[in-house]
Amino acid sequence: EEKKMKYNDFPYKRISVDSQKELMAGWLNRFEKTESADEQISVLKEVDEANREYSSYQAIASLNFNRNIKDKAAKAEKDYYDKIGPEIQEIHNKLDQAVDASDFKDELKKEWGDTFLKMIEMDLKTFDPKIMDMLRKETELRNEYTQLVGGAQIEFDGKTYNLAGLGPFHTDQDRDLRKRSYHARFQWFAENADQFDELYDKLVKLRHKIAVTLGYENFIELGYLRMSRSDYGAKEVANFRKQIVDHVVPIVTKLRQQKKEILGLDHLYFYDGINFKDGDPKPKGTPDELVAGAQKMYHELSPETGEFFDIMVNEELMDLVNRDGKMVGGFCTAFPKYNRPYIFSNFNGTDHDITVLTHEAGHAFQCYSSRKQPLTSYLWPTMESAEIHSMSMEFFTWPWMETFFKEETERFKYKHIAGSLSFLPYGACVDHFQHWVYENPEAPPIERKEKWLEFEALYLPDRDYDDIEFPKSGGIWQGQLHIYQMPFYYIDYTLAETCAFQFWIKSEENREKAWADYYRLCQAGGSLPFTGLVDLAGLKLPFDDGCLESVVKQVSKWLDEVDVSSL
Ligand code: ZN
Repeated sequence: EEKKMKYNDFPYKRISVDSQKELMAGWLNRFEKTESADEQISVLKEVDEANREYSSYQAIASLNFNRNIKDKAAKAEKDYYDKIGPEIQEIHNKLDQAVDASDFKDELKKEWGDTFLKMIEMDLKTFDPKIMDMLRKETELRNEYTQLVGGAQIEFDGKTYNLAGLGPFHTDQDRDLRKRSYHARFQWFAENADQFDELYDKLVKLRHKIAVTLGYENFIELGYLRMSRSDYGAKEVANFRKQIVDHVVPIVTKLRQQKKEILGLDHLYFYDGINFKDGDPKPKGTPDELVAGAQKMYHELSPETGEFFDIMVNEELMDLVNRDGKMVGGFCTAFPKYNRPYIFSNFNGTDHDITVLTHEAGHAFQCYSSRKQPLTSYLWPTMESAEIHSMSMEFFTWPWMETFFKEETERFKYKHIAGSLSFLPYGACVDHFQHWVYENPEAPPIERKEKWLEFEALYLPDRDYDDIEFPKSGGIWQGQLHIYQMPFYYIDYTLAETCAFQFWIKSEENREKAWADYYRLCQAGGSLPFTGLVDLAGLKLPFDDGCLESVVKQVSKWLDEVDVSSL
């Protein structure tokens, strides 16, 4: 099973739609005609083998393009897989229907558990040929948003920037520069306000129509199904948000008092989003030294992580450093046929470089650990669960942060905790807002902005935009791409963070046990839904009363022991 190949030696090829159609016709025929459960199981195993191959080649095509966006041959391969994606999906949709109609569901359940069947059920509930055209339209509108945001040309101090390029000024040590850069940013949003309003209005109404066509009252239930949530709904999430208001908002208010002290300011405005007077902690060492430090760290952390990280290094499964021609951003992908994950990032000398080595490595470690799961669809869990592995790995690696940050370690840890906690109310605000939007699809754009400000007052009560008009009038969410692109996705980060905090607390109490729980969770991959995985890991369910309260109590205790004047 263990391959010794390096990434560049992984076999790759184009898979043709015709060959898949032919194969599927054969599989479908066997699946539907047979009167034996074993035969259905063996068909599904063959399909899975083919899925492994297909998704590996697709991932390789996409990764190679990301590694060099100027490489025309690489682009052609990626375009090929992008183009055939919907057709392949349609081919598989037929099999999904056959599985859903199978007389042997009990036997299938016995073989793989019921997660597999539930996922198929949910997929089928989100699709009908009747909505094909509307789905295409939705993709178009999404792309329009990407183009609008990506095409921003903002004049600032005599130069032209896009939104990402303007970013570093927002966290500059010079307060005036920060404020002016935000003015420039939101001036651009104000100039394009009609387009942002119109695009969102179209998306909301279209999604509502899709939902109604499929037989739902509004988009909310469909949105949850699209996120493959089989085990909780809007009611549970509402209870989680309520706990954030009750238990997290007060402590974030306290943290903001502390921040004034740290920064030496009398009042905090929106543009004071920096952590320390003289900048964030920086990793010490060259990229090679950081990777060597990580390798040593993962060997000391556990035998499993040691073995995993050696493979990542020896088989050249990481492309970490920023260079010309590389796509921006960071992610983890995988090649199920070869049982290997891959980490892509753009080291740029900030503390984020270390977060790549812990966060993305957490995703990769989970994927590697679940390689023995019997189905490709069990390799990764749903989003809210996937982030538990990555965010918890950020905490499990705390004892080694001195390797990377030396004398700035305490500042790194403070930023990590304060930042993670402060994120929760914002995440809940984005989520609450979206529930209101899809419950009221006919509300005009101006009402959406007024409503946003109401939620902001609830979740982010001391936010002060000073005299920056656009966010002051309730438009800031239009820069949050998830709201346009992936409805109801955002809360996933907050659910996962609540679980990651629990691992942090448990690892302080009993490291060995905490790690065993975590490793078990990683090995389970996506074989269970969120609530099942949380239970398997011995964690408290974030929706339940008392969960956040106890988490926040521990975090507060830690924060109380920090000597702020030393940061
Ligand atoms: Zn992640």
